[in-house]
Amino acid sequence: MPRSSSEAIAVIGAGVAGCALAAQLRRLGHGGVLSLWETGRGPGGRASTRRSRRDGQLALDHGAPLMNITAEPAPDLLEPLLAGGWIEPWTGPVAMLEGESRLNIGRPDALGLGRLYRGRGGMDQLCQGLLHLAGASTVDAHYGVLVRHLERSASGRWRLLDAGGQLLEETDWLVLSGTLLAHPRSRLVMDWPEVPLERAIRGGDDLQLEHALTTIAGIRFEARTNLLLVFSGAAAEAWRGLPFTLVAFDAAAQQRWGLRRISIQPLADGRCAVVAHSTHVFAADHLDVVGTGSAAARQLGLPLDQGREDTVIAALSEALSQCLAPWIGGLDTSQANPRLMRWAAAFPLAPGLPPSLAICPWSRVGFCGDSIDGVGFGRIEGALHSAERLAASLLTPDYPERHVQPLR
Ligand SMILES: Cc1cc2nc3c(=O)[nH]c(=O)nc-3n(C[C@H](O)[C@H](O)[C@H](O)COP(=O)(O)OP(=O)(O)OC[C@H]3O[C@@H](n4cnc5c(N)ncnc54)[C@H](O)[C@@H]3O)c2cc1C
Repeated sequence: MPRSSSEAIAVIGAGVAGCALAAQLRRLGHGGVLSLWETGRGPGGRASTRRSRRDGQLALDHGAPLMNITAEPAPDLLEPLLAGGWIEPWTGPVAMLEGESRLNIGRPDALGLGRLYRGRGGMDQLCQGLLHLAGASTVDAHYGVLVRHLERSASGRWRLLDAGGQLLEETDWLVLSGTLLAHPRSRLVMDWPEVPLERAIRGGDDLQLEHALTTIAGIRFEARTNLLLVFSGAAAEAWRGLPFTLVAFDAAAQQRWGLRRISIQPLADGRCAVVAHSTHVFAADHLDVVGTGSAAARQLGLPLDQGREDTVIAALSEALSQCLAPWIGGLDTSQANPRLMRWAAAFPLAPGLPPSLAICPWSRVGFCGDSIDGVGFGRIEGALHSAERLAASLLTPDYPERHVQPLR
């Protein structure tokens, strides 16, 4: 067995890539300490499901509503996820809104190509399934914890610290499954003075890791502002009766309505959740509005402005009512508990990080996630592939001898 099969690995982020990495590492025989650190309330990341303690029937996919597999070979983890009943094929009717209001039933957008799947009972079941495959009890998972600082110990091990400077963990390998700790957007979004990973490696001479950080710094992201609605009674029936459950907008329709997609999600108790995804242009114009329901906003103490939020909700509601007026008239969103969910970094834009830079053995740093170049870039398919590739590289290193870089 290669030495790394028993080394401790800390994975920042319990989205699809972080959970898939845990699953694949265990499947390939990694027996060392494996920890997951996630700022959100549970696993899922951009493929999570909004649930409510007070409303047990509510399950609303406020990020990715589906995943699509477009290429062979499919990720190794797909089959066990299906076999375990964590995900299921999705065959709902799709449509494209073209121009002002012409509906082309059956025409998907790029996210609807290939084989479509969804989490059974909510997209968060995808990550729950991955953690189950990892052997949930063998993974040391921490939720609601933001890793704020990174340091190297004198012996070259990685130290993870929280916002108060408290040591969370010391580990052999550091894996970033999200870009926050390595990308300059953290300065803007989090108001951090420095990029944490950049700061941690200052003074070292790992040119590969420096190259990786420079490349990550060049990645740009599209934002989304999503309007979340839950209809009940006759309004829910009207939504459930529509001849489509996923509507994409073509370029002209996006420009006209400021919307990109509408995902209709019937709930088990007869209600119907609807999520309207804004265009990136709309989201960029309203980036300061995070949504009062946002757990991250609460945790990070980001400023909330109910007045601004109401204005954005009204604008998206108006667009939704008007563009769907030919199919569902008299839409009253005020009865549907409207909420906002802002995704500041919803989709990375190409080029991403080349797979050759996704593992930096000299410093013992790995990267996975949908920002890594390759099949499925910017989507769940890419997040799964990137994690599987990284797990294989971590356990079967093709470098002759690994050294911990001495600190200068
Ligand atoms: C609105 C929307 C719609 C989408 N629709 C689709 C679709 O239809 N099909 C599709 O395939 N894909 C879709 N996507 C993209 C898909 O959601 C992503 O490709 C995928 O979920 C990325 O997974 P990931 O693990 O790479 O990243 P993430 O899900 O972003 O996971 C990274 C995790 O790391 C955590 N984290 C980061 N930094 C820290 C830190 N310092 N401390 C603690 N935790 C940290 C974050 O909270 C996050 O949970 C959509 C995305 C959005 C936002």
